Amino acid sequence: MTEFSALTRIEESLSQLEADSLLRKRMLLESPQGTHVRVDGRDLISFCSNDYLGLANDPRLAQAAHSAINECGVGAGASHLVTGHHRLHHEFEQAFARFVGKPAALLFSTGYMANIGVLTALLGRHGEVFADRLNHASLNDAAQQCGATFTRYAHADLDQLEAQLKKSKASDKLICTDLVFSMDGDVADVDRLLSLAESHDAWLYLDDAHGFGVLNDGRGGMTEAARKSSRVIYLATLGKAAGVFGAAVAAHASVVEWLVQKAKTYVYTTAMPPMLAASLQESLKQVEIGSSRREILGQHVSKLREGLGSLPGWHLMDSNTPIQPLVVGENAEAMALSKALLERGLLVPAIRTPTVPKGSARLRISLSAAHSEAEVGMLVAAIRDLAQA
Ligand SMILES: *Cc1c(COP(=O)(O)O)cnc(C)c1O
Repeated sequence: MTEFSALTRIEESLSQLEADSLLRKRMLLESPQGTHVRVDGRDLISFCSNDYLGLANDPRLAQAAHSAINECGVGAGASHLVTGHHRLHHEFEQAFARFVGKPAALLFSTGYMANIGVLTALLGRHGEVFADRLNHASLNDAAQQCGATFTRYAHADLDQLEAQLKKSKASDKLICTDLVFSMDGDVADVDRLLSLAESHDAWLYLDDAHGFGVLNDGRGGMTEAARKSSRVIYLATLGKAAGVFGAAVAAHASVVEWLVQKAKTYVYTTAMPPMLAASLQESLKQVEIGSSRREILGQHVSKLREGLGSLPGWHLMDSNTPIQPLVVGENAEAMALSKALLERGLLVPAIRTPTVPKGSARLRISLSAAHSEAEVGMLVAAIRDLAQA
């Protein structure tokens, strides 16, 4: 028998990851997603989901899926262009476009697929993508896959972006950015990005995975000018605040029509189960009428920031979104803090290098409208206590 060398190499690399404490393990969730979870056999209060409005386990969303299953079963059975495009998908797209204020929208199965589909449909070898350094991995993958020149600017450094745009000779240009940055919680300057896109004849692609449902009455982080601009393509992922699954791209009607023709991750894949589109329709309704949820969320953010604003050694990053990173420094310190909180029944993930820059290992606290004020208070008290220990 000959040795299977590739497998041997993988196993050696896995051992190395384990030795470097970089081997990632999956926790086993044995409850619905929410603020109270059962994980690896323990009941914990969770500060680590993206379920910012507490909709993932909302009975109305579940009921909508149940009803749709009774009507049309489970699987879509085909791609959108081959009889898989159900009335429920179509109605959601129309409602979504109306809600965010764009002429048309297209439903993808995931945000990852949407990012790859859009960038590869719009740009090729002669294009250039301009990207914030802290963009999500799926945007970086999308930029690489489309074959365009890939130019990155320092986080939020729009002067650098402007200089790069001035120098570019590419025929098609696209600026892409997280609208709310997923590890830092800060918000991109959409109006200045748009004015740069306009003065350099570029697209502006806004990935609002963490802003949709939360910012601007739930409509997300687009400004009025961005809504009106045909250059702006807007992405909301629907597995975070919306509590379900999938992603919707909203844009000028011709752009959406182009994506239907050319976005491979839309064309060559099975449509999302229609029952999820039904659940999304209900989710959209809850997002739309969710101002009291957003108000509670805002109060939690304020309470946390007041409580943790002035700790010696650790600092909260400047964020007004439900993503509240507490920077503690080295990987080991972040791990130890996360572990100490876990011992107190509080689940808060440590984010380490290489996900974040060296020396900025952090707790990524994410808040939900489903937390109670007392639970936020418990987290603050525990962290303050540990800071003094
Ligand atoms: C989560 C996320 C995605 C991917 O969305 P999925 O629907 O989970 O695939 C894309 N962009 C950003 C910024 C994200 O946080």
